[in-house]
Amino acid sequence: KKALLQELKGKENITLDGRKINIFANIGGLSDIGAVLVNDAGGIGLFRSEFLYLENNNFPSEELQFATYKKVLESMAGKKVIIRTLDIGADKKIEYFDLDAEENPALGYRAIRICLTRQDIFKTQLRALYRASVFGNLSIMFPMIIAREEILEIKKIINEVKIELAAENVPFSDDVEIGIMIETPAAAVISDILAPEVDFFSVGTNDLTQYTLAIDRQNPKLDGFYDPHHESVLRLIQFAADSAHKNGKWIGICGELGADLSLTERFLKMGIDELSVSPSLVLSLRDKVRNSSCK
Ligand code: PEP
Ligand code: MG
Repeated sequence: KKALLQELKGKENITLDGRKINIFANIGGLSDIGAVLVNDAGGIGLFRSEFLYLENNNFPSEELQFATYKKVLESMAGKKVIIRTLDIGADKKIEYFDLDAEENPALGYRAIRICLTRQDIFKTQLRALYRASVFGNLSIMFPMIIAREEILEIKKIINEVKIELAAENVPFSDDVEIGIMIETPAAAVISDILAPEVDFFSVGTNDLTQYTLAIDRQNPKLDGFYDPHHESVLRLIQFAADSAHKNGKWIGICGELGADLSLTERFLKMGIDELSVSPSLVLSLRDKVRNSSCK
């Protein structure tokens, strides 16, 4: 089986009835890029930028971030690289952020909520991202979105960053795609309102399932209640897919469910355009897609 999967390198992700999809890889740091290339992923669908903050004992500087993003973009040589902005809080804690202990951290001060209140931190990351954008094919994605207003605020900040860079004569790319994670039930339910504001959606099924089922993804006592195939989650994904396509946007899945081969055919039928999985699962997913039909 393993030898057979090796033969799929360089082949297309095409279904039996001729539909092509993208299979990208999720990474948590530069050290994962070797595996992305070896397994012939078509791009990076989720770069969890948290690691830069987790690995350092102080806020990573703009220079350090720039150097890191540039390296990822250059090693992917023009293939799409989707970098997700800082997603900490909840399960991911960082000493120097000095966040208060919370009763319900999963429902608390995390991800984009931190970035929109600490715009100094957010702007440093955005500056580094836009500076790096000329070295490859960059897309930027924002976590834990629940409202259209958040996207408008993000776009306003991006605009400020671009004006600053232009004033400093620092080059940046004009066609960086902007996307959001669909990982709250709120975002899925209003995905028709959000779609016109972005270039793409990426479904974070780990959090989307946690919040839809009201089941803490880290509490093993609840494992018996946790149904990753719950129809409610699948319906939310279907609605988000329809919202994206009605607005001419694309949609991917970057949560664990994207690698669940028992759902691949269902996702293809929903019209999902991209699946982003752990590098080691890219070729088995390609095999599954090549033996699936969309109809
Ligand atoms: C998700 O929630 O499905 C996701 C991809 O993000 P993370 O696992 O980093 O929260
Ligand atoms: Mg998430």
